[in-house]
Amino acid sequence: MTSSAASAPGPVAKAAGTGDLRPVFRFAPSPNGYLHIGHAYSALRNYEMARQHDGRFLLRLEDIDLDRCRPEYEAAIFEDLAWLGLTWEEPVLRQSQHFSLYASAIEGLRDRGLLYPCFCSRLEISRVISGVRDWPRDPDGGPIYPGTCRHLPLEERERRLASGQHAALRLDMGQAVGEAGMLLAWCEFGEGEEGRDVRAEAQLWGDAVLARKDIPTSYHISVVVDDARQGITDVVRGKDLFDATSLHRLLQALLDLPAPRYHHHDLLRDAAGQKLSKSTRAKSLRALRAEGVTANDVRRRLGFST
Ligand code: GLU
Repeated sequence: MTSSAASAPGPVAKAAGTGDLRPVFRFAPSPNGYLHIGHAYSALRNYEMARQHDGRFLLRLEDIDLDRCRPEYEAAIFEDLAWLGLTWEEPVLRQSQHFSLYASAIEGLRDRGLLYPCFCSRLEISRVISGVRDWPRDPDGGPIYPGTCRHLPLEERERRLASGQHAALRLDMGQAVGEAGMLLAWCEFGEGEEGRDVRAEAQLWGDAVLARKDIPTSYHISVVVDDARQGITDVVRGKDLFDATSLHRLLQALLDLPAPRYHHHDLLRDAAGQKLSKSTRAKSLRALRAEGVTANDVRRRLGFST
């Protein structure tokens, strides 16, 4: 049996806990840099789909990494989105205000024996795998965790925790997939109107980190908890997060959260075919604006009406 929560095409699901039948969309940038044209595409797709389906459009700042997120980037997000002609519901949602919700989701998984503390540094992991040819990699290219801390004797675990050693919390993937107990799927619309079921393959991620050493949560936990609490019916985001959806679908099943419909859109690429990103120094919207590019130029270039 496979289970995907939303299989009917077209956004009609009910927002969680409300009598409101409107579909709910969200744009969820991280305020750790300026928005570029790839973000503009994602924001506009969310916004236009919400409009087209008489839906709600939420803005959620994914600011769990307090060291990297800055108020000036946040202010720039508001400015850039308003410049593009977008409006969103107030209040703006902030993940940094939801740490306690993420903590209770993590505690719940931990109580069920699905998480274990991991003391390894990146360096230690790379040492373990360095001698092995073709060590398996996750869909983002990171090495699959070799499981070192999964095998730590309980007393040693306790001793290291009691001595104040920092630990991340990893999902015991084998256990978690067993506990979810059925083949999971999600309903994927891509850029189109037709949904298809995609089999979730969370095991491709190995024992993923769900609470980081430096932050008491992770992108994966925060996004599934928020999408559920905020009644998101349709997640519209770039294809770079397509594979992460397998893990999200598993977490939704374990935490008994509803699964939204997913619309993973194509990514904008630069002339060399590289995905636009903050790290590849894609030109920011504010830099384009300073060069005299207008919001309508951007909308036209991205294929939206003006
Ligand atoms: N915060 C993520 C990003 O800026 C988006 C996450 C999502 O849409 O699920 O790439």
